[in-house]
Amino acid sequence: MASKIDLHIHTTASDGTLTPAQVVELAKAQGLHTIAITDHDTMGGVPEAVEAGRRIGVAVIPGIEISTDYRDRDTHVLGYGLDWNAPALRPVLEWVRTDRHNRNQKMAALMRADGIEVELAALEATHPGATIGRPHFARVLVEQGRAESISDAFARYLNPGQRYYLSRGYFRFDEAVSVIRRSGGVAVLAHPLQYGYPEPELRALVAYAAGQGIQGIEVYYTGYNREQRALLLDLAGQLGLFATGGSDFHGANKPDIALGAGHGGLFVPETVLTALKEYL
Ligand code: AMP
Ligand code: FE
Ligand code: FE
Ligand code: ZN
Repeated sequence: MASKIDLHIHTTASDGTLTPAQVVELAKAQGLHTIAITDHDTMGGVPEAVEAGRRIGVAVIPGIEISTDYRDRDTHVLGYGLDWNAPALRPVLEWVRTDRHNRNQKMAALMRADGIEVELAALEATHPGATIGRPHFARVLVEQGRAESISDAFARYLNPGQRYYLSRGYFRFDEAVSVIRRSGGVAVLAHPLQYGYPEPELRALVAYAAGQGIQGIEVYYTGYNREQRALLLDLAGQLGLFATGGSDFHGANKPDIALGAGHGGLFVPETVLTALKEYL
């Protein structure tokens, strides 16, 4: 059974390889009726997607995925239905842009010192308005023959501990939840099983998130099997949270993940939308 909805999607506004309009076209072609655009730390792709959605006939929920540093691990908070012009959002996204810009300049300098031809200004020119980060440098490494694939580039150069990895600034978890809610959005804990916690710590994370104002958790996610979904549904139920789901589509940057149907048989039930809409 194919999903008719997908609530976790990246575009060229962050580290996806399809433009927002192309994502909407693909969604339509695959029979999806509702999608959410959730780029990393930006809503820059949302207006184009919403417009394309109106034209093509796909409902587009404005979204975002904010990186936080809960327990020093990159922990993601999804926001749905927020106003991309909200006053609360602007300074927050501006702070991320500046911080990332400084980090990107240092990463480019490290790479140039090794003879890799990379200029941040050129990357910015080819990705106008996008959240530029390690995935963009990964692509450069592939293009210049230093790595065989994006994941090879991460493994050899860009993961923590590798030579071009630099840390960056993160929001506190509670700040991310707060800015999403103050911008009129619903806050959801993204892919709870991606942080590598054994079950007691996973429970602690979800309980903490609920205490900070998270309203839902992602249950239907590429690669999560039946047992894992059952565990997450159970946790959500215990804490009064609703379940959401999506593929985490990134186009060619994560070629194993398909829109609306990642490997592992992702299926996002439409009841997810009913629950989410109660909050929107
Ligand atoms: P950054 O925010 O610049 O530190 O980059 C983090 C992003 O890189 C994540 O959100 C992922 O989308 C992407 N990423 C991390 N590891 C990989 C990988 N092995 N292959 C493709 N993308 C990756
Ligand atoms: Fe990403
Ligand atoms: Fe994420
Ligand atoms: Zn994502």
